[in-house]
Amino acid sequence: MKADLGTIAERLRRAERALVVGHVRPDGDAIGSAAGLALILRELGIEAEACIPDHIPRHYRYIPGTSVVKGVNELRGQGFDTVVVVDSSDISRVGEAAELFPNRPPDVVIDHHITNSGFGELNFCDPNAAATCMVIHELGKILLPHGYSSGIAELLLLGIATDTGFFRHADVDERVFAAAAELSRYGARIRPIAEAILENRTLNTVRLLSEMFRTLVLEEEGRIAYAYLAEEHFRKCGCEGDEAEGFISEIMSLRSVEVGALLVEWPKGEIHVSLRSKGRVDVSEIALALGGGGHPRAAGCSFKGISLQEALELVARELRKGLKKGLGT
Ligand code: 5GP
Ligand code: MN
Repeated sequence: MKADLGTIAERLRRAERALVVGHVRPDGDAIGSAAGLALILRELGIEAEACIPDHIPRHYRYIPGTSVVKGVNELRGQGFDTVVVVDSSDISRVGEAAELFPNRPPDVVIDHHITNSGFGELNFCDPNAAATCMVIHELGKILLPHGYSSGIAELLLLGIATDTGFFRHADVDERVFAAAAELSRYGARIRPIAEAILENRTLNTVRLLSEMFRTLVLEEEGRIAYAYLAEEHFRKCGCEGDEAEGFISEIMSLRSVEVGALLVEWPKGEIHVSLRSKGRVDVSEIALALGGGGHPRAAGCSFKGISLQEALELVARELRKGLKKGLGT
């Protein structure tokens, strides 16, 4: 059932032990919204835990509030009367965390992906919100009208900053700047976030980036761009799979590119595809066609059981179709 934030706030106030879950392959918005909401609930006196069902890339750990996030194994055997899923467009995105749920759909789903399937008991999805953390901030103001701690504010700013590409994307509007100003008033600082996310590459990571550019293919006068990183590349550079985070932006930094993809094989045999568009192509449609989801300008999907070469061909074919449709040719 669709619900407004007032109804969701009422439901959450009735919780005694709440679990807030973000998605696998977490990004700043998944981590910020899960940790931020759990801490908001704790300020209300509710016992709340934040869970990310996957490895958390090391650089997020530089933001102090992220230390509340737990893995699935640490939370097994605890009974939760309320489950909230954030920033996840379908139930498969919560991975193994589903094992922690009571035997029913999540009580509350809060999201901003246009592809959200509405898999909770109460669902709030605002595709116009630049980040799930924008929605958590609105909910936070209902639950804690006198404001909340700087730690929570910084977690929410993390999600807003990362999902907007540090206030660069087309969905950055007055609402985003107003939320950022409020969070800043609560004590959130952008500098530690920028340092943790943008200025934290090792030399090995930069070497991995140059490996990626060796595999870059341009088509249609450079309007389509795709590249890959195989598991061998990571091993050769001494890098872990999460170190390619942000690399897709480097592909999109090329002037000619309208639509881009990066295929990352990590671990061996598992391929994750990041899709981005500068606006004319809807990559959420491409991702859906390939079994994934996301936003019109940023989406993704995963493959298992096919080779990198096969995956590249599948993705390239959808990119060509998407560009044709987007340009109306
Ligand atoms: P990224 O390229 O950063 O992994 O993902 C871009 C966007 O697409 C994010 O909003 C993310 O939540 C969504 N996304 C990425 N991979 C998948 C996937 O496999 N399934 C779904 N439903 N969404 C995805
Ligand atoms: Mn998000």
